[in-house]
Amino acid sequence: MSGIVYLNGEFVPAEEARVSIFDRGFLFSDSLYEVIPFYHGIGFRLEEHLERLKEGMRVVKMELNLDFAALCSEVVQRNGGGNRAVYLQITRGADTQRRVVCQTPLVPTVVIFSYPIAVALEGNLDLVKGIHAITTEDIRWRHCEIKTTGLLGNIMAIQQALESGAQEALMVRDGYLTEGSSSNLFVIQDRTIFTPATNELILGGTTRNLLLELASANNIDWQEKNLPASCLHRAEEVWISSSTRGVIPVLQIDGQAVANGQPGPLWRRMAELYQCFEKQLFDACN
Ligand code: PMP
Repeated sequence: MSGIVYLNGEFVPAEEARVSIFDRGFLFSDSLYEVIPFYHGIGFRLEEHLERLKEGMRVVKMELNLDFAALCSEVVQRNGGGNRAVYLQITRGADTQRRVVCQTPLVPTVVIFSYPIAVALEGNLDLVKGIHAITTEDIRWRHCEIKTTGLLGNIMAIQQALESGAQEALMVRDGYLTEGSSSNLFVIQDRTIFTPATNELILGGTTRNLLLELASANNIDWQEKNLPASCLHRAEEVWISSSTRGVIPVLQIDGQAVANGQPGPLWRRMAELYQCFEKQLFDACN
């Protein structure tokens, strides 16, 4: 990765950015992050991402007052603007040795870099490829609402999916679906959207929340509900959502087609509403 990155108060070429081996983010994953799409140089749901980060910082007791919105925008501008994902990470800071408990407060480490992305769901929706998924046990810790860089459980799940020729792993805890390894989950039954409620077992996705807002505004029924893994067999449609992908239909789960194995009509409607939302935002910015 090249380009200009932000590290602890400075904008520097990526090759020159250095973080200590005693940084608690590196040693303990004592660290939070966000991935924020910028389209045409403008942050998409930027406030929602930063609100989630702030809430995570509150829960894990990291203190830092920085204008993250301005810093993210500046990283995008310094790399030529356009359509980029911004990666923002905050760690509790670099110690002088490896100790689990550090009595003296450290200065948090802040890293922001960016890379080019496509606009989620841009263009002809007929060309959107659905994905295949597997189901797997959710082996993560019990604070999945915190967007920590401690992602080993998620990584093991997606590795398992890729080894099975699938592109996402839908995780199951105590018999109930939680979310994808890097996405939220929606199951459609009786033309109603069902999705697990936000609690400590899932990440409160910014895209998830946007889709539910769009559904409400357009009289599409939705409900938060505990979803037993067995409900996937009866689903009319299954979708996943994330910031960089928008909303994507899941066409096959554990080798079984979801309904007729094609993207469903409600997915199409939601994807169109999402596209409209993006367009309004771009038009307002031009
Ligand atoms: N759940 C997990 C575990 C994720 O990693 C992500 C991606 N950040 C999401 C859900 C979706 O969140 P968002 O819509 O904010 O990208």
